[in-house]
Amino acid sequence: MAMDYSTAILERKMMKAPNRLLVDDSEGGVAVDDSSVALSEVTMTELDIFQGDLVTLRGKRPPSRLLVDDSEGGVAVDDSSVALSEVTMTELDIFQGDLVTLRGKRRREAVCYAHADESCPDGRVRLSRGVRGNIHVRLGDLVAVKRSPHVGNARRVLVRPFEDSVKGISGDLFQPYLRPYFKDAMRPVKKGDRFLVRGLMHAVEFRVEDTDPADECVIVARDTEVFYDSENPVKREDDELIDGPGYEDVGGVCKQLAQIREMVELPLRHPKLFTTLGVRPPKGILLYGPPGTGKTLLARAIAAESGAHFIVVNGPEIMGGVAGESEANLRKVFAEADEHAPSIIFLDEVDSIAPNREKAHGEVERRVVSQLLTLMDGLRSRGQVVVIGATNRPNSLDPALRRFGRFDRELDIGVPDEVGRLEILRIHTKNMPLADDVDLERVGKDTHGFVGSDIASLCSEAAMQCIREKLDLMDIEDDTISVEILNSLTVCMDHLRFAVEV
Ligand code: ADP
Repeated sequence: MAMDYSTAILERKMMKAPNRLLVDDSEGGVAVDDSSVALSEVTMTELDIFQGDLVTLRGKRPPSRLLVDDSEGGVAVDDSSVALSEVTMTELDIFQGDLVTLRGKRRREAVCYAHADESCPDGRVRLSRGVRGNIHVRLGDLVAVKRSPHVGNARRVLVRPFEDSVKGISGDLFQPYLRPYFKDAMRPVKKGDRFLVRGLMHAVEFRVEDTDPADECVIVARDTEVFYDSENPVKREDDELIDGPGYEDVGGVCKQLAQIREMVELPLRHPKLFTTLGVRPPKGILLYGPPGTGKTLLARAIAAESGAHFIVVNGPEIMGGVAGESEANLRKVFAEADEHAPSIIFLDEVDSIAPNREKAHGEVERRVVSQLLTLMDGLRSRGQVVVIGATNRPNSLDPALRRFGRFDRELDIGVPDEVGRLEILRIHTKNMPLADDVDLERVGKDTHGFVGSDIASLCSEAAMQCIREKLDLMDIEDDTISVEILNSLTVCMDHLRFAVEV
């Protein structure tokens, strides 16, 4: 054992309160070898350790490796800030507002401001989706975090927008997007960094193409010239980490989201953990609730955030065709999932694929149910392929499917309550400039019975109403909207009221 004069933590196996003792060398006392340690009798008595007991010595954990957590629920983080608990900050000798360097996978680094967040568990760091993408990490990965050395100011930076993010918009994005984003924010940037700027009716993602000086990281300060190259937007590569909705896009289902993450994300990401512990991760989860409550969205978010391959199977669609075609299609889906594992198979309207066999009229249904059962029973890649079924009629499902080892976990995704509705309203208005008179809580109260998809259409209807008022300013023939017009749009309470009523 390497003996330096640091504090080692020694705890008796299973003992709750660890004790910290000073490490001494092995000279002069009873002989210790690489599988024994020596302690005084008093210390042993204090720690309730007997001669010959097995003890665990916990050395210094490399304290700078932190677990990546999402940015929900704590202090607000953006693409140039991260949140940590005060304990973690003290351990890492980081102060509020310090610049920290995060090192993720493939030696990718990002520099961000650190903020204390009391809701962040110790040993974790909350990162925005953008930062996670920049350093190629996902939730639950480890990142190395340390205080950054001095970061100098940039003379110039060159920024380009992502092509898909400016589709349909014309005009100068500098004034409405980039200027406010960089103004007085002293943002640290690095060549290759991507960042998302919300605003107007639309969020635009940009990439830092070049910096001068071309250091690892530079600060965009007051006198930095920001060059914006709108002529050559960036094409998105296939392996972009961020695609599909994230957890922050699903509202009103906190509890269910936490449960499903535990059931799906953990086994997808750490299959070894489960095989070692002999725990059987779920193969199938049934989400039930009325249409439009976000079941598909939830499954997509889990897949996107955990990096799993996602396959959607629409129940009624797969059921058609010539004899044997439905079963063959199901087999194909399971084979694809196996090949691309970790995967999530999403069976939408699973009740149409697997109706109760006793009540099913057709031979086809009976055969398809049996095929599905066989495929689920045969899932070899335990925990690496998860089947999520969605239905609004759980009771019409074949009971055999709800047994142990199949869809044996069920989650109720019900109609959202007032708090849930407000959360969903906030999600769907986050890219809209809202007038000061907008009272989302009021809208949340007035929309009793609305599900997520109703709220999503309510918000786009409000935006549409706002656009209609400006129609005379727009050139209908033009296939892009000028950014000045976008800039002049503000959704006010009347637009929302109108949308509630339609
Ligand atoms: P389901 O699968 O339950 O029928 P979807 O996930 O297809 O519902 O929802 C349709 C759309 O409605 C989503 O793409 C999203 O825009 C919106 N939506 C539904 N539920 C929610 C929610 N809980 N949070 C945010 N948006 C939601």
